[in-house]
Amino acid sequence: MFILILGAPGSGKGTQGKILAERLGLPKITTGDLIRSAMQDGTPLGLEVKKYYDEGKLVPDSVILGMIKDELDRPDAKDGAILDGFPRTAAQAELVDRTLAQRQQRLNHILLLDVTEDELVRRMRARARVEGRSDDTPEAISNRLQIYQRDTAPLIAHYAQRGIIKRVPGIGTVDAIAGEIKRVIGR
Ligand code: ADP
Repeated sequence: MFILILGAPGSGKGTQGKILAERLGLPKITTGDLIRSAMQDGTPLGLEVKKYYDEGKLVPDSVILGMIKDELDRPDAKDGAILDGFPRTAAQAELVDRTLAQRQQRLNHILLLDVTEDELVRRMRARARVEGRSDDTPEAISNRLQIYQRDTAPLIAHYAQRGIIKRVPGIGTVDAIAGEIKRVIGR
């Protein structure tokens, strides 16, 4: 089973994705984590993407598409995965759809974590104080929110046509939200 967690930056995709992946015994593929570890390791890819990341801009599809392909091709993602942080652009969505279709698979559920913009900003600022992520500066936060609205939110319409989007209120305790996710996907 392939489950996509969609939501604005700060909506809790990582937290809920982790809980869901552990509960269902599926690998979680997180483009943001792959990018952060490449930057930390100082790989050529990490160096190439750092300026986009730090400004809160999307890393170009020329880099991300290959990353997505490699991750979906991993043996442990053969029968399913939780997708966190991608697809984020139309080209990424097409690649995911096409790759799964070639394997007679598809996205089974899309969970849209719904959080108000005020709360997103509050969470990212709070996280900046704790984790010190380089893209949690006020300018980068504002870019990330704008880019989400411009490039990623349109994917909601793309998937809504297929009737597989489930909106989950992303405000409440972590446990309550996890419980709601369990309820909407029925397992
Ligand atoms: P958030 O959703 O809170 O912004 P992520 O860890 O998902 O956190 O993403 C952080 C940054 O990593 C993005 O602003 C972007 O620079 C880069 N990134 C992550 N995933 C993608 C992707 N699928 N396409 C392009 N850039 C990405």
